[in-house]
Amino acid sequence: MTRVRRIPVAVDSQVPTGKTNAYIIISTNTETRANTGSHPEAVLVDPPAQAPEIDAMADRVDITHILVTHTHPDHVGGVSTYADATGATVWCRRGRVQRFHNLTGVEPDQTFHEGTMLPVDESVRILDLPGHAPDHIGIETEAGILCGDIARAEGSVAITSPDGAMRAYFVALRRLHARQPSRLYPGHGEIISHPRETCLRLLMHRQERESQVLTAIADGATSVESILEQAYNKDITDVRDLARATVRAHLEKLDAEGHIVFNREETEIIDTWKTPKWPIWVMVRQGRCKLLKQNWRVQNRFQ
Ligand SMILES: [Zn+2]
Repeated sequence: MTRVRRIPVAVDSQVPTGKTNAYIIISTNTETRANTGSHPEAVLVDPPAQAPEIDAMADRVDITHILVTHTHPDHVGGVSTYADATGATVWCRRGRVQRFHNLTGVEPDQTFHEGTMLPVDESVRILDLPGHAPDHIGIETEAGILCGDIARAEGSVAITSPDGAMRAYFVALRRLHARQPSRLYPGHGEIISHPRETCLRLLMHRQERESQVLTAIADGATSVESILEQAYNKDITDVRDLARATVRAHLEKLDAEGHIVFNREETEIIDTWKTPKWPIWVMVRQGRCKLLKQNWRVQNRFQ
């Protein structure tokens, strides 16, 4: 049975909870232990910086592999230090080597892709979980899935254009839900002990926001700014840039699905309806129906 240890580390950047979770996946496979001495073999994931908390845990295991769920700065700051200190194999997503090198300063030794099994334990497997960042992955273990910034126990995560992709994020949440992990190990905050409930909550949150964006468009909004005014019925002065980038990500999704034409260069302008097969009020109603259905599922399964 693989074990997972969460190590919250304080980071400088503005992130939820002010800390990023580094993780150590410990293999209990006795064969690998015999090969490497008395310490069990382990994988270090998302070291945000060199930190005494990680050092203390690293002393008790043999870190042989290092990887990150995605290459945002709050997840990669310690990669170089721990790669030098341990001599571990550094992994990166296939096709994203340059991005990985630019953000970590490390040339990866190996690349992975969807389905790659890490050679530390037969049960540690890479899952594609895009949406928050283009190179975002999850790591599936017997103890649950390390899901990076796809989910949090409380609140939501940022899906912002251009680094994020809303359509992909919906897919990632549905995928996590379908795999029925026993636990989710997020990039920030507490371990998630009810993964399916959390995935549905986050899907509902996104669906609700999409409904608000569609309603704003139905009411005549034609620019990101005017949608922002109508879709967020609260004071967003402090998070205006984040909200703007989130609305853009929603508009890109609606464009990809053929509901609107969104001019990405002139991000202030929304053109005409690409497919007038459904009047806008039908789409808004469809969104509400999905919400009601998801709400019903949450209430009936998890109470
Ligand atoms: Zn993060």
